[in-house]
Amino acid sequence: MPIYEYRCQDCRHKTDKLVRGFDAPESVECRACGGENTHRVISRVAFHKSLGSQLQDLDSRYDRMVDSAAASTSDADPNRFLDSSIPLDAADR
Ligand SMILES: [Zn+2]
Repeated sequence: MPIYEYRCQDCRHKTDKLVRGFDAPESVECRACGGENTHRVISRVAFHKSLGSQLQDLDSRYDRMVDSAAASTSDADPNRFLDSSIPLDAADR
């Protein structure tokens, strides 16, 4: 449920309103003066990014750092399986 903020045009007080659903009312009763002369204001939005979008937003230099770090490990060597493998016909014996 989103929380909307309303600014009172009479006393400038800001009133928060927890709204069920996503249809924000045009105005709410001002908590300070009780007036109805309020308008919804766009408030700062706090939201959590998924890990996936956080990773996508990382600087591309980070990708290159990861690539170069992974390239220096033994897993990056394409011949690593050849060293430990034996021919198929030898495996049957
Ligand atoms: Zn007011």
